[in-house]
This record gives sequence, structure tokens and C-alpha cells, in this order.
Amino acid sequence: DLARAGFRFDNSYRRDLPGAWLDQAPRRVPAPRLLAFNRALATDLGLDPDLLEPDAAEVFSGNRLPPGAEPLAQAYAGHQFGGFSPQLGDGRALLLGEQIDPQGQRRDIALKGSGPTPFSRGGDGFAAVGPVLREYLMGEAMAALGVPTSRALAAVATGAQVARERALPGAVLTRVAASHIRIGTFQFFAARRQTDLLRKLADHAIARHHPAAAQADNPYLALFEAVRGAQVRLVAQWMGLGFIHGVMNTDNMTISGETIDYGPCAFMEAYAPGTVFSSIDRGGRYAYANQPLILGWNLARLAETLLPLFDDDADRAVDLANERLEAVEPLFHDAWLEVMRAKLGLTGQDAGDRALAEGFLQALEGTDWTQGFRALADAAEGGGPGLVFERGALLADWLGRWRVRLGGNAAMAAQAIRATNPIYIPRNQRVEEALTAAEEGDIAPFQKLLAVLADPFTNRPGQEAFALPAPQAFMSGFRTF
Ligand code: AMP
Ligand code: MG
Ligand code: MG
Repeated sequence: DLARAGFRFDNSYRRDLPGAWLDQAPRRVPAPRLLAFNRALATDLGLDPDLLEPDAAEVFSGNRLPPGAEPLAQAYAGHQFGGFSPQLGDGRALLLGEQIDPQGQRRDIALKGSGPTPFSRGGDGFAAVGPVLREYLMGEAMAALGVPTSRALAAVATGAQVARERALPGAVLTRVAASHIRIGTFQFFAARRQTDLLRKLADHAIARHHPAAAQADNPYLALFEAVRGAQVRLVAQWMGLGFIHGVMNTDNMTISGETIDYGPCAFMEAYAPGTVFSSIDRGGRYAYANQPLILGWNLARLAETLLPLFDDDADRAVDLANERLEAVEPLFHDAWLEVMRAKLGLTGQDAGDRALAEGFLQALEGTDWTQGFRALADAAEGGGPGLVFERGALLADWLGRWRVRLGGNAAMAAQAIRATNPIYIPRNQRVEEALTAAEEGDIAPFQKLLAVLADPFTNRPGQEAFALPAPQAFMSGFRTF
């Protein structure tokens, strides 16, 4: 059945980019058991979930390779918390191949937690059930919220234990992404001064992700501009949802503009610009409000790698890069304002919109981010916001200004607000409960939460617990990692 399940691999990364990967087979796992299988995504990929399901535990643990798979570990470098590592690479992930779906779209299918590779450095190459299911939930939630993201195709418990602070049940995640090419992939070749390979990587990235750049006078500048645009829009969406990635290292920022690497990420509950959830982020480098600055910092690292491709004249190349980097901040401000206009139900453009959006954020401080925006739908219809804001006086003043801006469009605005601002996000307490239950062998809470997050804009009577922020006692000192 596996032969007829619809795998159609074309492994262009392997073919185009020798020097950017090493052959590596997955480690055999003792007792694979399917925890979750994304049948809808399988169908999108041109895979037949019914034919696949009997073999899913074997295939998505790495024990059995699907036809056409040629597993490899990708090489990359990266700045981690500002410090450069010339060689990181897939320490616990393997690319199986690139599935060509029925629309002709190419997507990586990769395993994560499938055992050591030559890039494992000090790590063991494995992953635990909790983090694997956390990545599964977060990616699916982001996809349902309309954010470009890697997706989860399956999660398999391995039957082996993983040594962490305590022994934990092991798991493998099957991850699907437009590609896993990162800023750090470019940094890998740039650091080694391998300009020919760098050019091949850039050509591969253009063909695969930003094909219009090939037609430009200077395709590599156009590639940079396309990546800049995709990442700017991505981070603007994160900001709109209160999403905190947590490890915006250059090896975790994709050239496609998809979110990857859901490690310590979390959604903010009460709005505070300095929010950090990762215990390893001691300086708050990747705090909520810092994400746009880090976006620019990371893009500067990408531009540095591309200098030899921008122009043969080094001074000219630097000028071209600086011009593109100076535009990051205004482009981000525009993208952010577009996101905020939609969230606030504003149609058209008014010179006062930025101040209006910033004014709402001031009034929102201390109040739940997600509920605060959603409450504006009722407020637009003339009722109260149905939610107590910490800064009630500021809000009352702001609502007056906002209603003037809405003018006669209030009913339409309410609809737009409900279509833009979710009811359900991955609430930290619900996520932790689901992961703890799964670790203890009960997958039902995970499946229930996943179903809610797959449809985040539709009200589900009786499911209020999935929409509520955690009590203060849970959130104070809450850490994801
Ligand atoms: P991350 O912080 O998840 O982006 O990972 C940074 C680097 O550490 C990447 O090269 C990963 O492949 C590697 N890594 C993370 N966890 C492990 C692990 N358990 N075993 C081996 N390598 C790992
Ligand atoms: Mg990573
Ligand atoms: Mg990670």
C-alpha cells in the first residue's frame, strides 16, 4: 500500500546543492505508535490517508522509508542570541525529500527527533513527546490563523526514553514546509567564502520561492527584497496575534517566509510589550516588542552573505545592501499598520490610523490581547466591549475616537473584526494540560484542543475554557522551555 500511497519525491536540494547536506539515515525506533496524523494535510500533499495510515507509525518514525525518500541532514550556520556559529545544521532532523503535490507545488517532508547526525554536536538527536506535540499544535494553529508556517503531518511516540532533566517519552515529528532553507544556510557558505555554492543556493532559492526575482536586472538584490517582504509580512502577522517566537536566531528564519521551529514559542495573554516566555532568553532579546528589531538585524545578516552576489565592486555592493536595509523599518511599519487596520475594523486609510492603533495598544496594556481585540466587535455594534480593561479610562476615551473613525461602517467593521481576530489561540494552560496528559498516555485532550485551534474564528458554545486566559497564578513565571 505504501507504494500506492502517493509519494512523489523530487529531491532538488540534494541534486542542486552538494556541499549543503550529508547523507544520514534515521535511527530505528523500538515501538512506534501513532499519536497524531494530519489526514487533511496528507490529502493536500497528494497522499492517500487511508492507504498510508496502516504504515503511518513505521513511516513517520523513520523505521520505513517511503518510496523515493533519500534522507539527508542539512548544513547551516547561524547567529544564536547574537553569537555566530559557523556550523549548526540538522542535529536531530532529516529531510526525507520534496513531495510534489497534485498542484505541482513542492514541499519538504522532514523528520524531527529521528536520531543523531554529523551535526548533532552535544545533542542526542532525539525529541520528547511534549515538545513534538507542542510544535504540532502551534503550527496547525498558525496555519488556521492564516500565518505562513511549517505544518505537522504526523507525530509518533517511539517507545524509547529521552534523557532530559528527567527521562521523558520520545517522539518523532513529521514536518512539512515550503523548504527548510534559512538565513543560516546562506551564512554557512558565506562564512566559508564558498561563493560558487552561495550562488547556487541563491539560484535554488529564487527558483523555488521567489521566481519573479529571476527576471530582475539584479536577481540577487531582487531575491533579498523578496525575502525581506516575506519576513516583514510574517513578523507583522505575529505581532498582530501576540505571537512570540522565542528563538529568532538566523538559523530559524526561513527564506520562504514561513514560521519554523516552534520551540519555546507562545502566545501572549495579558498584553505587556516586554513579554518573554523562554527561560534561555535571559536578556529579553526575543521579547514580544523586540521582534521587529530582530527581524531587521537578521535581514542585515542575510544581506551580508549576499554582498559578493550583489555587485563585483565591494563598495557598491555595500551601498546596495544598505539601501535595502534602510527600508526594512518603514516597510515593517506599513505591514504592521495594515495588520492593525484589519484588526480594528478600519477600512480605507486615514492619516490618524497609526496613532489610533497605538492608542488602542496603550489602553490594552494589562488586558488579554486576544480577548481585547475580539471585544471590539461588540463595541462596534454599539454595546460595551463586554470585557473589563485594566485601563478602563483610557479605553473609554479611545472608543470615542475609534467610533468617529468608523463613521457609518460600524456594522461592517464588527463583521470584519470577527473574521480577523480569533476567539481561540493556543492558551498556555490548555497547551500544558494537553501535553502533560499526552506524556502520561492520554492523547484525547490534545486531539480536542487541536480541533478547536483548527477553527479559531467560530464560537463553540460550552467551550469557553479554550478561549479564556490562564489565571495570574499560572502565568506568573510561566516558562515554555
Ligand atoms: P534550535 O534551537 O532548535 O533552533 O536548534 C539549534 C541547533 O541545535 C540546531 O542545529 C539543532 O539541530 C540542534 N539541536 C537542538 N536540539 C538538539 C538535540 N536534542 N540533538 C541534537 N541537536 C539538537
Ligand atoms: Mg532551529
Ligand atoms: Mg528547535
